[in-house]
Amino acid sequence: LTILGIETSCDETAASIVRGDANLVQGEILSNVVHSQIDDHAAFGGVVPEIAARAHVEKLDGIIQRALSDADCSWDDIDAIAATTGPGLVGGLIVGVMTGKAIAYAQNKPFLPINHLEGHALTARLTDGIKFPYLLLLVSGGHTQIVLVRSLGDYERWASTIDDALGEAFDKTAKLLGLAYPGGPAVEQHAIKGDAKRFSLPRPLKGEDRLDFSFSGLKTALRRQATELGPLKEHDIDDLCASFQLAVTESLKDRVSRSLSRYRNEFTDDQPTLVVAGGVAANKAIRTMLEATCAEQGFSFLAPPIALCTDNAAMIAWAGLEQLAAGAQSDMDAIPRPRWPLDSDSAPIIGSGK
Ligand code: ATP
Ligand code: MG
Ligand code: FE
Repeated sequence: LTILGIETSCDETAASIVRGDANLVQGEILSNVVHSQIDDHAAFGGVVPEIAARAHVEKLDGIIQRALSDADCSWDDIDAIAATTGPGLVGGLIVGVMTGKAIAYAQNKPFLPINHLEGHALTARLTDGIKFPYLLLLVSGGHTQIVLVRSLGDYERWASTIDDALGEAFDKTAKLLGLAYPGGPAVEQHAIKGDAKRFSLPRPLKGEDRLDFSFSGLKTALRRQATELGPLKEHDIDDLCASFQLAVTESLKDRVSRSLSRYRNEFTDDQPTLVVAGGVAANKAIRTMLEATCAEQGFSFLAPPIALCTDNAAMIAWAGLEQLAAGAQSDMDAIPRPRWPLDSDSAPIIGSGK
């Protein structure tokens, strides 16, 4: 099976062609074209939905053409079109879904509506062919979740953030300190030079029984300390970033450990796996912590290459491929779903009935 994937849910315009066999050992990425709109949004310090939608309209056709030519494929080689149908910004979703359907209609191929989060959830099967079940930690600009990936179409959300997403916390902290957007990489660079012990920041929810995440209190505490300092010097920024990153990492460790323990109580696999996805997975301190935490609790830790952790269309093509192999039918009636939780009705086409 060879699938064209389309991703336009946020600020990446992406198309990719993925090939795999019906036994789904793992997939082969024939092309993976991603156009990031970061430059279009940087001046505004965040994604502007209207600008994003227009940029998708402008770029998507050319990006699909490049995905085909990079893969050395013609339309005859493509078995189905899969497009992100939600969750995300409605303008971008409309562009991706309409384009995908138009191609499916013109080329007489099935159209598969894909949940963006399912794309993230299944990426480790594309890259490493891992087996169900496993735990997924999704940490991006818009999401912070732990999901039990039980099988295709069967996802159970164990934890989510009760306020800011982790990437959002990095972005807001960066903005507060006058650093460039997106904030994650900037904060990490400063943190490397800084003294993480200089400022004491809270570890939100640490020690609490629930599995959820919280990051907004941290940002507020950081703002207070930064304001007390007056005009910030370079080393103040370094120290604030280092203190923030340490607090985030420790809070995340506490939260993740709890989910790993719960998994241990409910499943009996000898070597369970935690998979990470989302742009925050690029952060070295967080990755190192996750590796250590998994080792302590007898879990394998799997981090797909960063280009497949951040938003891309290969993961969408792969989710389509898995669904098609499982018997999914074309769904030309699908409409964009800006809100579409992964754990309810996430795979309507194969009719798990949930
Ligand atoms: P969605 O949540 O819909 O997937 P997104 O575009 O926000 O959308 P990604 O593209 O996966 O998600 O990730 C972007 C986020 O990752 C940003 O918030 C960015 O600051 C954060 N990020 C990127 N690199 C790092 C880093 N080195 N350290 C911490 N955060 C990072
Ligand atoms: Mg993005
Ligand atoms: Fe994403």
